[in-house]
Amino acid sequence: MMHVRIASRQAPDRAVNEDYGFAGGGLVGVLDGVTEAPGRDNGCIHGTAWYVRRLGAHLVRANGNSAAIPLTDVLAEAITATRGDHEGRCRLDEPSTPAATVCLLRQRGSEVDYLVLCDTTLVIDHRHGIETITDVRFRDTIARLRRGDPSMDDPTSRNRQITPAKWDHINRDGGYWIAASNPDAAYHALTGTVTCGEDGIRRAALLTDGASCAVDTFGILDWPQLLDLLTDQGPVTLIEQVRAAEKATITGSSHIKRHDDATAAICLFPGSRP
Ligand SMILES: [Zn+2]
Repeated sequence: MMHVRIASRQAPDRAVNEDYGFAGGGLVGVLDGVTEAPGRDNGCIHGTAWYVRRLGAHLVRANGNSAAIPLTDVLAEAITATRGDHEGRCRLDEPSTPAATVCLLRQRGSEVDYLVLCDTTLVIDHRHGIETITDVRFRDTIARLRRGDPSMDDPTSRNRQITPAKWDHINRDGGYWIAASNPDAAYHALTGTVTCGEDGIRRAALLTDGASCAVDTFGILDWPQLLDLLTDQGPVTLIEQVRAAEKATITGSSHIKRHDDATAAICLFPGSRP
C-alpha cells in the first residue's frame, strides 16, 4: 500500500485555510477553495472553508462506498451530497457559490486512478520519467480575460482568482470547470489510471497552486527536485520554502496577493526509493 504524507497551511495573512488535504480509504486529495469576492453576495451562509471540508469528507465517504466506481462518479456524488449539507438555506445557483479545485489519487490493488479538476497539479514519477498533469482551462480563461482588461498589468500573475469576469465562464464549455454545486463538473475533469509495480508509478505529488508555485511561478525547484524534497523532508518543508520565496518577491502591484494557502501530499509506492 502507498505511504502518504500531507500538509496544508493557510496563508499567513489570511484568517482561515481555504485549502484542504485528506487521506482515507485509499483515497488522497487536495482541494483549493475559491476565495470569496469582497462585496459580492455568493448566496451561501457557510463559506469556502466549510465547503472544502464538507466536500473532502463526502469524497472519502463516497469512495468508501465502493472503490470500484470511477473517480468522476465519486466526485459527482460528493458534490451532490455537499449540496444537501446547505440544507436549503442557500442559493446554490449563484455563479460565485463556494467552489474548489480538486486533485485526487486512489490506489486500487495494482492500479492507481487520478482526477484533476481546475487549477491543481498532479506530478507522477513513472520511474522512466516525470509527468505533470494540470487542468489549464482556468488559467487560460483568466489570461484571455485579462488581455482584454488594461487595469491588469500582468495577465499571467498569481492572483488569478480576483478577475471578476471569470464568473461568466464558470462551469461551462469554452470556460472552465470546477467543483461547486453542479455535479456535472466532475465529468469534465482530467482522469487516468496508471499501474504500480516494477515499471509503474514510483511517487506522486498532489499540489494546490499555492504549493506548485515553487516550480511554476517562483522557479526555486524543478519537478524532480520538488519530488525529492517531498520524499526526503516532507510537505511542511516545501511550504516553508514557498513562504520564503513569497517574502522575497517584491511586487509593486496591489493586485498581487503575497501569500496563498498551500497544500501538498506525497504518495510513495513500495520500492519508491531509487
Ligand atoms: Zn451554504
